[in-house]
Parts: sequence; structure tokens; C-alpha cells
Amino acid sequence: MPGCLVCGSISPLISRAIGVCRTCLKEKPEEALDIALKNHAETRMEFRLPPRPPRTSGGVPCNLCAAQCVMGEGEAGFCGVRGVGGGRLWSLSTTDAGLLTYYLDPHVTNCCNAWFCPAGTGCGYPRYAVTEGAEVGYYNLALFFYGCSFNCLFCQNWTHKVLSCGKKVTVKELVNLTLKNGRVTCWCWFGGSAEPQLPFAINASRTIIEEKGERVCRVCWEWNGDGHPTLVKRAGELSYISGGNVKFDLKAFDPNIHFALTAMSNERTLKNFELVYQE
Ligand code: SF4
Ligand code: SF4
Ligand code: SF4
Repeated sequence: MPGCLVCGSISPLISRAIGVCRTCLKEKPEEALDIALKNHAETRMEFRLPPRPPRTSGGVPCNLCAAQCVMGEGEAGFCGVRGVGGGRLWSLSTTDAGLLTYYLDPHVTNCCNAWFCPAGTGCGYPRYAVTEGAEVGYYNLALFFYGCSFNCLFCQNWTHKVLSCGKKVTVKELVNLTLKNGRVTCWCWFGGSAEPQLPFAINASRTIIEEKGERVCRVCWEWNGDGHPTLVKRAGELSYISGGNVKFDLKAFDPNIHFALTAMSNERTLKNFELVYQE
């Protein structure tokens, strides 16, 4: 039976992957998090991802998400999507092309908001939905990003860490296939999470909203929410004007438990959650 490596207590409720109990995370956070983060680092080796966000003195900074990596020569950022080589920042995702796969998901989908969003209910018809009820016969374009700025040990979509499986997909490709298929009524950015690829996702979303005319095509985000606040605000605006949703995956309110689960702080996520709500 799994046990806590700090206090020695044994319980089926203690995660072997995390290695410590809830009580120690709250009462002895330094010791407990040291163990949890070592376990995170070990799992990341398998995917050739850096154990922690790099902080190399004199390195190249990236501010797309709260990891705020500072990468030295030959290093990759925490997400693995960006890095430094030849003294320059490289990125597997640009404003014109992202690293993802996509598929059509028939409505009503298993999207976590489908029980109240326009696709599942017709809410906002006729401006934001094509039918007065569920949009049966229509599709969500599911956009699965590779890479994430968190390292949740229980990630439901862990394959996003295998970056080599992501395809280079351009804004033009997504916009053209949507314009050609009148049955697509929403885009859902998920994965992985959008933060390391927000410049691409925002550019693609803005383009489809501009080019779709009066047609319904909502833009939704399903993310961990720790992106740069300026980009998060812009993404939220695109959802707002298209009738879409912004879905924050809030893993835990307690900062230490959040750290143990994801290897990252929840501070930025909670601030962005408030920002999107307020603005
Ligand atoms: S992507 Fe948005 S609009 Fe489409 S099913 Fe999901 S929550 Fe609803
Ligand atoms: S934030 Fe979501 S996609 Fe990223 S590691 Fe956590 S569960 Fe997986
Ligand atoms: S997107 Fe985030 S995790 Fe990736 S390199 Fe930039 S700061 Fe680091």
C-alpha cells in the first residue's frame, strides 16, 4: 500500500506517484514538495522534458506562461515547445503554424461545458447557435495541442508530451477547412494546453472570426490558464465575441497541493481566472 515518504503514514488515499500525503503537503510543505517535485522530474525524463523551468543566468527569457523560463544554449523550456539554439530562441509553434492534431467531434460532444453551452442547448440562438436546441448534425473542430506548461501527474491527455506526434498545422489550413464545412460550429483549443502556443491560437481564432461572416463559429479554450495575462485577455475576448467559452481547469486551491499535482504554482491561473471573469 502506498505511503507518505515524510511521515510514514500508509493509506490507499496517498498517491504513489506524488509520494507524500496531504497533511505533510500542508504542514511540512518544503520537505514534502521536494519529494513530489523529484517524482515529477523523473516522469519528465521519459519525454525528454526539462525537470523544472530553466533559470539559466544570461539565458533567453520566454514570458508566454507563468513558468517564465530563462533558457541557456541547448536548453528547452518547461513545455518543450520552445528553446534556445545557436544563441536564438526557436519555437515549434509560430503565429502562422502550431503543433497539434485535430478532428471533427459530432455534437453533442463530451466537451465539459456541453451541458450548458450553445452547442448542447441552443443557448444564444440564432447569433451563437444554429439550432434552438442541441446542435445535432453539426461538429466541434477539436484542436489538440502538443505541449503544456503544467506537468500534471494524472493528465488525462498525457500523449501531448510526445511532441514528435504533433503535426505542423497552419492557420490557413484550419480556416480553409472550417470555411468549406458549414457543419463546423465551434473550435475547441485543448490538448495539452494552449499557453505555449497562444500567439498561434489567437491568430487562427481571430482569422476565423474575421472570415466567417455572420456564420456561427464559436471559439473556446480548455486550458490550465497560466498564460501571459495580455494573451489570456485577448483569447477571452475572442470567445466573448464569438459566443464561446473559456474553461479553466482549476486543479486545487491550496498552493502546495497544486504544486504537488502539477509541478507549478496556481497563482497566475487564479489571477487570470479573476481577470477573465471581471473583464
Ligand atoms: S467547444 Fe465550446 S461551444 Fe463547442 S461544445 Fe465545447 S464548450 Fe460547447
Ligand atoms: S494542464 Fe491539462 S493538459 Fe496540461 S498536464 Fe495538466 S491535465 Fe494535462
Ligand atoms: S511557453 Fe512557458 S513553459 Fe514554454 S518556454 Fe515559454 S515560459 Fe517556458
